Order: sequence, then structure tokens, then C-alpha cells
Amino acid sequence: MRRGGEALVVLTVSAAKARAARHGRARALVLLVVHLVIAAHIAHWLLAGRTVAPLELNESMYTLERGVITVGGILMALIVLSVFVFGRFFCSWGCHVLALQDGAAWLLERVGIRPRPVRSRLAPLVGLSVAFYMFAWPQVERLWFKQPWAGLRVTTDEDGLGSLVTSDFLRNLPGPWVAGATFLVCGGVLVWLLGTRSFCRFACPYGAAFSIVDRVSIGGIRLTGDCDQCGLCTTVCTTHIRVHEEIAQHGRVVSPNCLKDLDCTKICPRNALSWGFGAPSLLRSIGNANRSPNAWMWREDVSLLGTTALGVLIFRSLYGELPLFLAVGIGLLLGWCAVMSMRMWTNENLRVARVQLRLHRRITRSGRVWWVLMVTVFVFVTHSAWIRWHEAQGQRAWQACSLEPGIGAVSESGASAVEHLELVLAYGLWQPPYAHRMLADVYAWMGQPANAIPHAQRMTELWPEATNRWQQLAALLRMTGDERGAERIEREHLGARSFDSD
Ligand code: SF4
Ligand code: SF4
Repeated sequence: MRRGGEALVVLTVSAAKARAARHGRARALVLLVVHLVIAAHIAHWLLAGRTVAPLELNESMYTLERGVITVGGILMALIVLSVFVFGRFFCSWGCHVLALQDGAAWLLERVGIRPRPVRSRLAPLVGLSVAFYMFAWPQVERLWFKQPWAGLRVTTDEDGLGSLVTSDFLRNLPGPWVAGATFLVCGGVLVWLLGTRSFCRFACPYGAAFSIVDRVSIGGIRLTGDCDQCGLCTTVCTTHIRVHEEIAQHGRVVSPNCLKDLDCTKICPRNALSWGFGAPSLLRSIGNANRSPNAWMWREDVSLLGTTALGVLIFRSLYGELPLFLAVGIGLLLGWCAVMSMRMWTNENLRVARVQLRLHRRITRSGRVWWVLMVTVFVFVTHSAWIRWHEAQGQRAWQACSLEPGIGAVSESGASAVEHLELVLAYGLWQPPYAHRMLADVYAWMGQPANAIPHAQRMTELWPEATNRWQQLAALLRMTGDERGAERIEREHLGARSFDSD
């Protein structure tokens, strides 16, 4: 008999696995429905031109920073509330990035790759730092500069940001290439090299915020039957929680990384686990990582964290394009590369992602390929850092120019902006449009319309529908005395010319 006098039902392992597989398919179906809802939302915007504002959690920053109520902010508040009561169900049953990661893990398993988890003690600080930067830092800044909070309000597109409905659905989304790269890195490569759900465990700022709330949540996975410590629950947990140890020690899962997918409850042949209400886990998981048999060494952890931070600084907004999440993903990959390269020096045998890099102190052929790869990565990262530095300097100088525009009045900061931004265009792996835009501005402010024209022309090629770009080009042509060229642009791209300038 079990606790509470119920009859003990013990399944065979294969019956338990079949039940867990059925449960997995049900969860996959729920995640598929989530994607269908997203697709329907996009379709509605495409057809109607106006729709409910995006349900993006990052839009909660507008609420926190500017007081603008957003659908993303409302969703975030509801999820936090649900985590407080039920635990992190949203992460495994409603998040499309988790679906992507679980899908990638499933695909990798089909081709015989079982990603090994990284047991880093400090890597979760990455997600926490990003959460602090996104949600808390703007408040710290505001208080530091003694700025009042705007107060909650609903706004429309005409105010610059539609709170509840918008026609600017893509307002926070990157272009298709950058979005694809973000999904590939965060949902695929990270899973392969750092383990299943590694983005959730190490990088996701929302997950980091939810994990804090989860510590005080009353909902959790609890031991409600007789456990024989077979360890099946641990093997099935793709969040890499040592479930059998936690329940033996605490009578419940105490890790705030538990995403409540319920896989462990379904695989348990003795039905010893279930989700339910009870005392929160609070800080009882502290020290879990230290007990893990494969925990990374502290020096490895510190290297991972330091390299990740450096990677984020370099790649965030590189070429004016790379979003924070992609920069964090790249940073983590660089950190992982740094640690594996350290092991190439220190370990007599090293196998990485099923590839033998070192054997009996000898570097294998694959090991030599590894070093070639790492040197290439190092050159690429160094070049990116150099470009990013010039980008930052150029943007700062452009900003200084923009504060006092006027022909010939901004030569010092103008010259600096020109120097840095021309260098970005000349030596970057890609010519970022913002550099053309800023150079067109700066040359115009410096009274050098002939130099500004090629950049303004490039902007009209990139965004032929942007009226202000054609207006700028026409004005520049007129500054050089090319009245006919200016008139042609006004006739062909700006409709009937209004002769109010000359
Ligand atoms: S709780 Fe985990 S370790 Fe215990 S019997 Fe169930 S599957 Fe095995
Ligand atoms: S502990 Fe159980 S419910 Fe939590 S993530 Fe692991 S398998 Fe899922």
C-alpha cells in the first residue's frame, strides 16, 4: 500500500516508457497548436493590415521602462502569476523556443547524437545577468538620474507604439536572416554542444526571471509514492535535473530549472511522482550543482562566463543587426569553445561531441582540425571586435553631430564619424545600412553633399518606398547644383513637386 492507503500500482519499465512516449506526443501537439496560433496571428496581420499587438515577452520592457501597457507585458505578468501558483508550466507547454530546442534534440537523437549536458555552476548567471539588464537596469538608471516614472497608459500606433493593436507587427522582430540565425544558434547549435534545453538553462532572461519566482511557487513535482531510486526519472529529464536525488533528499524536485513538463511523473513505474501544491522549494537547490559528478571545474566556469561576457559585448548590435539573444547564444558558444580548448591542453584524453580530439596525450587528426577551426574563430572574433569598436565610435560621433546640425559646424565630430563609419563600410564583412544613413547625414551636415550622395543613393536602393530617403537625395542633389536631377527624383518618386524651397 502507498501513503494514504491507495493500492500500489507498479508498471513494467516498458509500459512506463510507452506512457511517457504518449505523454511526449501530447505535449508536442500542444506546442504545435501554439505555433498554429502564432501563424494565425501573423496571417491576420497580413490580411487585415492591423492586428493584436505581438505577444512578445520582451515588450514587457516598454511597460517597465515607459509605462506603456503592451500585450507582451500583460502576458508576462500572467505567466509570472501562473509560475507563482503552478510553477514553470509555460516554459514547456507554451514557449516556441523550447519547442525548437526539444525538436532539435529529437532530430539529433534520430541521427544518433545524444547531446551531453554541460554541468556549469556559473553559466545560469548569464540568463540572470541578461534579465537584470533587461528588466532591472533601466529602473536603476531612472532612479539614479532621478527621473520620474511615466505611469501606466495605453498608447496607439500614432503615439509611436500601439499598446493593444498595431499595424506595425514586426516592430521588434529582426529580419528573416537574423531571425533564422538566432533560431539556429539558440535552438540548434546550443542544444548540440551544451545539452538539451541549454538556452532555457543558461541564456533565457525570461526563464531566469521565472526561476526566481519558481523558488517561491507552491506548485511542484513531489514524491507522493514509494520510490526505489531506479533513476528513470533522472534519465528522462531533458532539463538535466537529478530528480531521484532531489526527491530522496527533499521529497520534491527543488531545482528552479524544472519546467513542469511532467515527463518524470509519467516515466516512473511506481507512480511515485506527481505535481501538486505544497511548501515552496526556496533555496534548497543551492549546492546541487556542486554535488553533480560531472560538474565543471571553477576555472572552466570562470572562463566560460568571462568569454561569454566578451562575446556579448562584441556581437550585440554588430553591423547594427545582431539582437541580444543571438549575441548571448554566440557568447555561450565561444565560452564553450574556450573551455574545450583549455581541456585540449590539460586533458590526456578528450572527446567532444562524439569526436576524439586527444587520445593518450596525442592530438588526433580531428584535434588538429579543431585547432584550425579555433584559430579561424579567433580571427573572426577579433575582426568582429575591431569592427564593433569602430561602429561604436562612429555612432557616438554621429550622435554628437546630430545634436548640433548645421553645415560646416560639426567638423571635429563629423570627421571622427566619417573616419570610423567609412572604415566599417570598407572592412566589414557586410555593409550595414545604418552606416550609409549616418554618413549621408554627416557629409550633408559638414557641407559635403557630393560625398553624401552615394550613401543617400544606397539608402534609396535599399528602401525605395521610404519617402524621406528620396527627399534627402533630392536635397543633396540640389545642394550640388544638380537641379534637374533633384526635380527628376521629385517627379518620379515624390509625386508633384511643391516649389517652396527655392
Ligand atoms: S521517482 Fe524516479 S527513481 Fe523513484 S521510482 Fe520513480 S522513476 Fe524511479
Ligand atoms: S523534473 Fe520532471 S517535470 Fe521537471 S523538467 Fe525534469 S522531467 Fe520535467
